[in-house]
Amino acid sequence: MNIALIAHDKKKDEMVNFCIAYEPILKAHTLYATGTTGRRIMEATSLHIKRMKSGPYGGDQQIGAMIADDLIDLVIFLRDPLTAQPHEPDITALLRLADVYGVPLATNLGTAEVLLRSLAEEPWDFRALRHT
Ligand code: PGA
Repeated sequence: MNIALIAHDKKKDEMVNFCIAYEPILKAHTLYATGTTGRRIMEATSLHIKRMKSGPYGGDQQIGAMIADDLIDLVIFLRDPLTAQPHEPDITALLRLADVYGVPLATNLGTAEVLLRSLAEEPWDFRALRHT
């Protein structure tokens, strides 16, 4: 499956720890990330990440476009709900597209863990339930 990983600055340590903990599951998949998140994960793990541009420079929009092209199966987007982001419109657009296409989306660590554990138990495809 194609998994997109994004973390705002104050959530990057959480994302790195998450990827270290779930590396055995994540390494079975194709991973995409916004620029800085991807670099941080690759520095801390042996995972290979296809890096987009940094989020504020268009990375969220690139991942949104991949969702629209049906190229993303799962998004883990650790958002910082306490800090204003200069690229808020891009973030909103990405979240909206995930809902438009019914792509599983975790915006916090708890949901991310549930999704990855379920993926490890029995791989699923959200498209099976999709009407469009
Ligand atoms: P970054 O982008 O991984 O390049 O920091 C994430 C974001 O802020 O959307």
